[in-house]
Amino acid sequence: MNALTTDRIRSHATRLGLTHLTETITALVERAETAQLGYLEFVDLLLEEEVGLRESRRFRNALKLSGLPHHKTLDEFDFAFQPDLDGRKVRDLATLEFIRAKSNVALLGPPGVGKTMLAVALAVAACQAGFSIYFTTLDDLVRRLRTAEATGRFNRQLQAFLRPAVLVVDEVGYLPLDRAEANMFFQLITRRYERGTMIVTSNKSFTEWGGVLGDDVLATAILDRLLHHCDVIAINGPSYRLKDRLTLVTGTEPMP
Ligand code: ADP
Ligand code: MG
Repeated sequence: MNALTTDRIRSHATRLGLTHLTETITALVERAETAQLGYLEFVDLLLEEEVGLRESRRFRNALKLSGLPHHKTLDEFDFAFQPDLDGRKVRDLATLEFIRAKSNVALLGPPGVGKTMLAVALAVAACQAGFSIYFTTLDDLVRRLRTAEATGRFNRQLQAFLRPAVLVVDEVGYLPLDRAEANMFFQLITRRYERGTMIVTSNKSFTEWGGVLGDDVLATAILDRLLHHCDVIAINGPSYRLKDRLTLVTGTEPMP
């Protein structure tokens, strides 16, 4: 290729912010020549490469800022280990239709059954599809709202939790809230209601939420909004964390 033309393409690409094209133009032209691509196919290739790169960069950055404790995906979830879990329902959720509908997901069950992992996997899938996501525990959420309130920044902090298309609130029920904290959680739920998706996990059944939130009336008001549009997934099975220890106790060989 004419060196002058290559230089000009590089400089134009740089001005347009097409950094990937700047670096790969020669290789791409070679590829096009070898494959004898038509003009349209070549333009298609150029744009696809650039978009693909930007997309993977966006995905990586978004994951970094998401607060997720890990980035496990649904493919890594062993459904055979949890036979009572409705795998089809979970895979249906992975189509992310519930996010477009701004409806919620609640994952309930005892410790170790994979509630957090499924919440994370759905959030990762949502992020990949271009939705903004954020992960927090209920404890962390109220702590940050309290701190913000103490310094007159409550609304700004609340806004930060309202912004993402998908907000994961993990571990509702591990630590009880006082009245002020339960009220903050209520405000969040009310403001997100029918405006954005929440994925909530809890080791407590809904009837026990009154105890967690220290107030039955408030718990009812929260659940009323949360559950109006909500897929509830109850996982009643063994703890994956205790998997290997359980096989030791029962004396059966661990799975290969
Ligand atoms: P929970 O939030 O219900 O307490 P976690 O999602 O934190 O449970 O799961 C505990 C650990 O076991 C995590 O490392 C998780 O990735 C793993 N895990 C749980 N269930 C499964 C499963 N069915 N297949 C693969 N890994 C699992
Ligand atoms: Mg958990």
